[in-house]
Amino acid sequence: MRGKLITLEGIDGSGKSTVAKKLQENPDIRVFDPIFTREPTRGTLTGTAVENAIQSETDQLAELFLFTADHAEHLAKLVKPALENGKNVISDRYSDSRYAYQGVTLKNRFENPLEWVKNLHSGWTVVPDLTFLFDIEPEIAVERCGKRGEQTKFEKIEFLQKVREIFLRLAAAEPDRFVIIDASCSQEVIEKKVVQKVLEFIQKD
Ligand code: ADP
Repeated sequence: MRGKLITLEGIDGSGKSTVAKKLQENPDIRVFDPIFTREPTRGTLTGTAVENAIQSETDQLAELFLFTADHAEHLAKLVKPALENGKNVISDRYSDSRYAYQGVTLKNRFENPLEWVKNLHSGWTVVPDLTFLFDIEPEIAVERCGKRGEQTKFEKIEFLQKVREIFLRLAAAEPDRFVIIDASCSQEVIEKKVVQKVLEFIQKD
């Protein structure tokens, strides 16, 4: 049987990585031995190119193609083979991050950047079976992150507000795939909810 693909999405500082780590340590989840991964990928040619692009003034369209190349590599080398071998895969960020972030960064390049970026993925990406959206006010998320990145606090909040709106639109369009988590809750509450839902989902048929 094909494995299941679960993704964790949300703006920077929403707590995705914290939850990914908790899931990895959770004994009930470990029984199912899922593969934990992330985008951008780490230690790969494409993932390193993405990291370098993020740190520099790379053109936003070029950046999209680098992210998308990394997604293709991730699918080919890890996600698809794992799912075909019946393994469950849990990814910290995946395609919805591209739709939401590039949906904002490319707003002056295309009339409908979200559709454009989605179309770029169509026909070859693997749509997740379950996606957690860690939803939070950008003000709180930016506070949590401290001094990450180059933007001023105001620019960052304004940008993340737009990214958050697209994430919420994506979730509203596919309510069966998305589970929205109130990421302003305590880590314990969030961990409990996500663990319970993941276990339920992995064990379903
Ligand atoms: P992301 O991976 O979404 O960017 P992180 O998991 O790295 O976010 O979390 C960002 C910061 O917020 C970290 O310092 C983390 O310890 C803290 N954090 C994560 N979840 C919570 C929470 N539920 N409540 C308070 N702080 C949190």
